[in-house]
Amino acid sequence: MKAVTWQGVHNMQVTEVPDPRIEEPTDIVIRVTSTGLCGSDLHLYETLGAFMEPGDIVGHEAMGIVEEVGSEVTKVSVGDRVVVPFNVSCGSCWMCDQHLYSQCETTQNPEHGTGASFFGYSKLYGQVPGGQAELLRVPFGNFLPVKVPHEHEDDRFLFLSDVLPTAWQGLKYADVPDGGTLLVMGAGPIGDMAARMGVRAGHRVISVDRVPERLARVNAFGAETINLDEVKGNGGVAEMVRELTNGRGADSVIDAVGMEAHGSPVAQGVQKFVGLLPDAIAEPMMKKAGIDRLAALHTALDAVRRGGTVSLSGVYGGAVDPMPLFQMFDKQIQLRMGQANVRAHTDELLAMLIEDDPFGVDAFATHHLPLDEAPQAYKHFQKKEEGMVKVVFKP
Ligand code: NAD
Ligand code: ZN
Ligand code: ZN
Repeated sequence: MKAVTWQGVHNMQVTEVPDPRIEEPTDIVIRVTSTGLCGSDLHLYETLGAFMEPGDIVGHEAMGIVEEVGSEVTKVSVGDRVVVPFNVSCGSCWMCDQHLYSQCETTQNPEHGTGASFFGYSKLYGQVPGGQAELLRVPFGNFLPVKVPHEHEDDRFLFLSDVLPTAWQGLKYADVPDGGTLLVMGAGPIGDMAARMGVRAGHRVISVDRVPERLARVNAFGAETINLDEVKGNGGVAEMVRELTNGRGADSVIDAVGMEAHGSPVAQGVQKFVGLLPDAIAEPMMKKAGIDRLAALHTALDAVRRGGTVSLSGVYGGAVDPMPLFQMFDKQIQLRMGQANVRAHTDELLAMLIEDDPFGVDAFATHHLPLDEAPQAYKHFQKKEEGMVKVVFKP
């Protein structure tokens, strides 16, 4: 079959690989009909390149039609239409019982100190082949796959694999009080969806990004917007937010940026090298180049009001990142974070999508592309070119 494989930093290729097969009696194999490109894939494309091996199949946002089922699978049958959550969770361990599916004990990775395995996320997360491919093996067939109706185009349900539950959990963790203001850092797919959900929940939402067409999308959905580059960068954002909120700051902030350092050509040049280095060496280099990898997080901590909540959906890495702990403690900031526990939210979200499209998912993707165009799509998505916000590949 054809699959998108990592071949080096900034080098994704579509290659011919062996078809996946049933390995355990509870596995299923699906024929992928749609599969998303995510900001998390950009970490593998560049920053986390050191964890990748040439030939790793990437992608973790897949749906399709069940092609084959293992002998013990009773929950789904050949021909069913299913969405695959990005975390590989067993559904029956202690962590899964707590609905902490991204910490599943059956698929944890002690050798890298990480939680549950993820599709397409290299040895860092269990070396499970990814979903940007024609076929995908899905373990735990009696628990993991989310069966969806055959009505509607794929995009109605595809984002149950990641974007919808991630933004949903981010919003829950943000704990916005009634009548409160939610600041969303980043208007990529995750920040965009979190802003939409915040607006739908009746909150006042302010979104921050520097890409005008991304800000226009959330604005059309009812969010106010701040362009980072028009307010003297991140310091300016916090100041502006206080101006908009009686001097106090936002009740809640969702950081949907993460360790983004691809904002400028200089950043891209430096990041290319520092992504392969340990943090202790990388951080001073980035500082010298004027890149603050924690820019969005620090803005979030600055812009949140005293006693407010900061919810991190964006992924951060590194052990030496300096956190302003005095400010955090003094302001009494509540901080919540983590990978989405996808399966904990899919039933609730699916029920909302069957009759209606409350978050605009039918028109959420800006690009539907054949798998063959993946190498170009990664490039454009990282550089935020071609009006690209959400790409869906059609293998
Ligand atoms: P993305 O990279 O397209 O979105 C990031 C956005 O942030 C971009 O639009 C960028 O212009 C903007 N940005 C950059 N620096 C900024 C700053 N200082 N202030 C405000 N905006 C800034 O990708 P995405 O798909 O939306 O993913 C966003 C983050 O969420 C990534 O870190 C991704 O890994 C993470 N993620 C987490 C989970 C989870 O389970 N927690 C799931 C999916 C994605
Ligand atoms: Zn994703
Ligand atoms: Zn489990």
